[in-house]
Amino acid sequence: MQAPSPQSILSEVPTGIFHAGNWVGATLGNTFTVFDPATEKPLLEVADATGEDAVAALDANVEAAAAWSATSPQERADLLWAAWDKLNQQREFFANLITFELGKPLEQSDGEVTYGGSFLRWFAEGATHINGRYNVLPQGNLRSLVTHRPVGPSLLVTPWNFPLAMATRKIAPALAAGCTVIVKPAQLTPLTTLAFTKILQEVGVPAGVVEVLPTSSAKSVTQPLLRDPRLRKLSFTGSTQVGQTLLREAAPGVLRTSMELGGLAPFIVFEDADLDQAVAAALATKMRNMGQACNASSRFYVHESLYQDFLERFTQGIAAMKVGNGREPGVEVGPLVSARHREDVDALVRQSISEGAQVRLGGHPLPGPGYFYAPTVLEVAPDNVLMKEEVFGPVAPVCSFQTDEQVLKWANDTSYGLAGYAYTANIDRALSLSRRLEVGMISVNAGTNSNAAAPFGGVKASGLGREGGDEGIFEYLEPVYLTLPN
Ligand code: NAP
Ligand code: MG
Repeated sequence: MQAPSPQSILSEVPTGIFHAGNWVGATLGNTFTVFDPATEKPLLEVADATGEDAVAALDANVEAAAAWSATSPQERADLLWAAWDKLNQQREFFANLITFELGKPLEQSDGEVTYGGSFLRWFAEGATHINGRYNVLPQGNLRSLVTHRPVGPSLLVTPWNFPLAMATRKIAPALAAGCTVIVKPAQLTPLTTLAFTKILQEVGVPAGVVEVLPTSSAKSVTQPLLRDPRLRKLSFTGSTQVGQTLLREAAPGVLRTSMELGGLAPFIVFEDADLDQAVAAALATKMRNMGQACNASSRFYVHESLYQDFLERFTQGIAAMKVGNGREPGVEVGPLVSARHREDVDALVRQSISEGAQVRLGGHPLPGPGYFYAPTVLEVAPDNVLMKEEVFGPVAPVCSFQTDEQVLKWANDTSYGLAGYAYTANIDRALSLSRRLEVGMISVNAGTNSNAAAPFGGVKASGLGREGGDEGIFEYLEPVYLTLPN
């Protein structure tokens, strides 16, 4: 894909708050700047929403809620289909915009357009398949009818790492369920979400159903909303630490919450693994999005019999990846999202080395402009900091193991529990992992788990609830049960 001029892309991006069907400025008239992480240059100024704007957004949500929840499932499905269609027509525009504000290689941004769009398609179908249940109660004298109601006005807070997909993964099921929503995109990457909102506006989503609040002060927008009894739901994707804060803030209102939080996925290569496949998947799951993915493989455990072979091939594979501006052809690793994030990544690498890690590749920032970090491979001990903390960057710690029992113990010895990857030719071992690995998503001999048709989410400190799959829409529905005589 060839990159069009920045101006032709950026001039099409709305930069306001989306409120009651219109693009408006912030109450105080303030703006904040969105930067290109590959060049460190400003891209656009965006309206900086305040607490007052947040309350106005909830007013609009509440006003629109009754009519929206009364629309037919077919009407809501048709709007989502129309949005899917328009997104596909503007595929090149969206891919470029994602690369501008996040920095990932254009081909991966194009992949995000497909993935982000898939939630529109999946939940367009889901809107018309909200099934309930009927049964005779055990005593035989009563029947119960279980139906579903939309939860109500929902606050959707998204991270910067997939600015389209993290938005559609929440907006699509919420709209399909009949909820009105307030979207709070990440400060670092609000542009893609704003451009997607324009699609929702163009296809005719009614005023007030979707409100979007870009802001440089997340707290000042979310706090008044979480305190307002009219808000009924919070769906958050981001770090575990912020998720915990928001859970506390959601407690007084006993809000329904969905939390997609941090991960620390183990990638386990057993002695009977197909090494070619394991290395290819290790490269893909580690380096996708420059390692800035919650489901990225974070910790590599390789059976001692394959360890040297794996390490050599994996390191060669990472060394061969071209680092650069995601708009340039052939680039596989773009910049990290911000200077601060790069400092965090480097600090963890420094600590890992101070704990005895051996650097096999990289291990340092790259000269700018742009927040580039050298793709890094480290040989570590099982108790190294990188086996315990999410690095969220192009850094791969590798360690060897001897027995299944040992590696399962290490893999589960963390508060995180989002994803896990394993390579083995043994079906019994694969099935035992599905019982014993404490994660929400397990991939055996497969380097992926993101799919709109599957329930994405984690256990332990990695979150609550699931996005996508048959489960996803029920995060935005309340079961209501009606008793009738039999
Ligand atoms: P983050 O700092 O937790 O931010 C996520 C969102 O929360 C952003 O919109 C952010 O706004 C907002 N926020 C931050 N502090 C807040 C506060 N005190 N009150 C209200 N909102 C607040 O996470 P991140 O750095 O963007 O993303 C990286 C993390 O997300 C990683 O841990 C990763 O594993 C996780 N993640 C999880 C999934 C999943 O599905 N499980 C998917 C992607 C990412 P600002 O932008 O203004 O800071
Ligand atoms: Mg942050």
